[in-house]
Amino acid sequence: MILLFAALSVTVLAGGKQQTETRPSVAVAPRPMAEKRPSAAEATQSEAEAPQQEAEVLFSRHFTGATLRLDYVFCGDAGHQAIYLQGMSRTGVWAGRRHNLSRALLRGNGLVRVKDPASGAVLYENSFSTLFQEWQGYEEARHVQKAFENCLQVPFPRDTVDIEVLLSDAHAKVTARLEHRVVPQDILIRQVQDNLHHRHTLKEGGPVEKTIDIVILSEGYTAAQEEKFFADAARARDALLGHEPFASRSDAFSIRAVFAPSQADGPSIPHLGKWNNTLTDSHFDTFYSERYLTTSALQKVWDAVGTVPFEHIIVLVNTPVYGGGGIYNSVTIMGSDHPTFPQVLVHEFGHAFGGLGDEYFYGEQAETPYPADTEPWEPNLTTLKDFASKWQDMLPPGTPVPTPTDELEKQDVRKIWDTLSADEKALLNHRVGVYEGAGYQAKGVYRPVQECRMKINECEEFCPVCTRALVRMIDYYCGE
Ligand SMILES: [Zn+2]
Repeated sequence: MILLFAALSVTVLAGGKQQTETRPSVAVAPRPMAEKRPSAAEATQSEAEAPQQEAEVLFSRHFTGATLRLDYVFCGDAGHQAIYLQGMSRTGVWAGRRHNLSRALLRGNGLVRVKDPASGAVLYENSFSTLFQEWQGYEEARHVQKAFENCLQVPFPRDTVDIEVLLSDAHAKVTARLEHRVVPQDILIRQVQDNLHHRHTLKEGGPVEKTIDIVILSEGYTAAQEEKFFADAARARDALLGHEPFASRSDAFSIRAVFAPSQADGPSIPHLGKWNNTLTDSHFDTFYSERYLTTSALQKVWDAVGTVPFEHIIVLVNTPVYGGGGIYNSVTIMGSDHPTFPQVLVHEFGHAFGGLGDEYFYGEQAETPYPADTEPWEPNLTTLKDFASKWQDMLPPGTPVPTPTDELEKQDVRKIWDTLSADEKALLNHRVGVYEGAGYQAKGVYRPVQECRMKINECEEFCPVCTRALVRMIDYYCGE
């Protein structure tokens, strides 16, 4: 079967231009693996239903309150992937959830589980996506095997546990799996000490166990640019918490900024031959796409954050050049000084925090990471394979599926957006339907509205479906 496995939750919003590079197709041989998971009846207790207090007791029974950082290498090529453990460390206070422990809200492209060795019961689960899986969709992955760093965090266990890591393909089939035992007394679990990098709390939302903790890390700022970094980080905070649905739930968030200097000012720009020595080795030209700014040095990112508690990292890159990306439950990376900074940051955080997919598409030739036989896990995309699990309940009665677009939509909406009336904008942004064209593909993938924050920078708001997905995620973190 030919499929493209690319950009599942990473995007380069191309600031007025769509990327035109050809996305290669890749032959992938999915290797389904039997996945044994105890039923709810086998688990000691249904944690999802436990009230907050009981959940806390359950958490404390299994976990110490510190964080276990797991460093892995994900490697392979388009047809074969493997996972290796590179190291383990105990970092700071566990900032993640203490309820809803045994279920991830979204499937993601990967799962990490902490399991009781005796019963196999899942004590903690989280989902994520990776740059490695995006790379598998590129031509290069057909010819060379590569390795990518990944850092995952789980609550530090009291007793011996098994950790299971799974990677899945676009058909939701598991393609790589690693299970390893962790003995908490193991003397070679590195005990991370405070790296003493300068830090400011930009938003105090409450105790770490009750809030969504975001850390903003400096990248490409010299020692002399510390003040600029903290000012830029404050702009990032304002962009996020000024945007709904975050604005009316801002107390659910804590935001800290960590400054560690880079030797050079700005990221590397390979197509200009410019290579800079920076904290986390960020660069444009990821996968040879000029505008695609990423860092692959995730261990450096995690090292720089150190013991500061966090659930989400925003790597803030000191550059006026347009660029950014968001990988679900991995990192958000953003250039600091482009005029579209607020919009792009919110869009990318929509990927990284909410697991939202891109609602834009290229053309009919474009291939997709969303094959017709599989319902995407992203809450704002559907292939109609299992639409009932998506926003079917939000469709106004009588809405045709698929839903035809308005005359307005036949124009280049981005060019005329500023000339539209409030009513016209609301029609494009609020009228929920099932519009064909999303997830990089003009056919076979559907989006909930005509225009959304997850489609174009010009549109000021998330659509109702994205908003509901984000609110559900906030509630999931906050235990509601
Ligand atoms: Zn949307």
